Amino acid sequence: MFLCDFHTHTYFSFDGDRKASPDAMCRSAIEKGITDLALTDHFEANSNAEGNISPYDAKAAHDEILLAKDKYKDRLNLVYGIELGQGYQYPDEVNKLFKDYKFDFVIGSLHNLRYAPDFCYLDFSEMPYKYAQHLFSRYIDEINETVDAFDCIDTVGHLTYMQRYTALAGINFDFRPYYDRLAAFFDKIIFRDIALEVNVSTLRKGLGFSMPDADILRLYRDRGGKLITVGSDAHSPADLGSCIADGFRLLESIGFDRVMVVKNREKVLCKI
Ligand SMILES: [Zn+2]
Ligand SMILES: [Zn+2]
Repeated sequence: MFLCDFHTHTYFSFDGDRKASPDAMCRSAIEKGITDLALTDHFEANSNAEGNISPYDAKAAHDEILLAKDKYKDRLNLVYGIELGQGYQYPDEVNKLFKDYKFDFVIGSLHNLRYAPDFCYLDFSEMPYKYAQHLFSRYIDEINETVDAFDCIDTVGHLTYMQRYTALAGINFDFRPYYDRLAAFFDKIIFRDIALEVNVSTLRKGLGFSMPDADILRLYRDRGGKLITVGSDAHSPADLGSCIADGFRLLESIGFDRVMVVKNREKVLCKI
């Protein structure tokens, strides 16, 4: 059975497990029968500019990942990637990074709105529902900015990221009022050949849905979306590949039979 994992973090991410060397991640992938693996460490453009987390060591990450790519080339398609967070907030930081490093695969992510903390720090249990709706409305504006700011984005990371934290707070956030705006967003990314990620970290955490969830994936399908990447968002070798097969079954149940990987910098659709 085909398996890939296109969203993973090594110890070059500020929140990566100390055991998560590129080499250890490759070994874990091979043990689990994964043939295509993207290492997509965080580059949080805002934090990089503001200096509030340890900066991404682009050179060390590049050198170690390329070493592993060569070492395992007969057993694993290792993809040198990056998870670009909030790039639109500090485009100069991003352009500086991309001038020196040619990534094979770029995830465009949004972890915090402008002038707001990461959604993971928000306590939705104490928040009026209307304010959560206001945040999600802003999220749609800024996820549009995320893909508009650069040409290099290959996939949109964990759309509806906020749902991980509303669900953990016991809030059943209703996305249906936003379907028209999400449909317009899908029309844009489909036109631009940008994929949509199915992030299964929420399945691993036992929340019972992917990001985005099945209904929003149906909306993407109905707009004609075909390019899907799947990622565990593992931050350790142990979590690598976790729930990917569940993500594939979910996709099949919605009518998708292929997922996108990158080989030699080309987008390739693989049958699941
Ligand atoms: Zn992320
Ligand atoms: Zn991530």
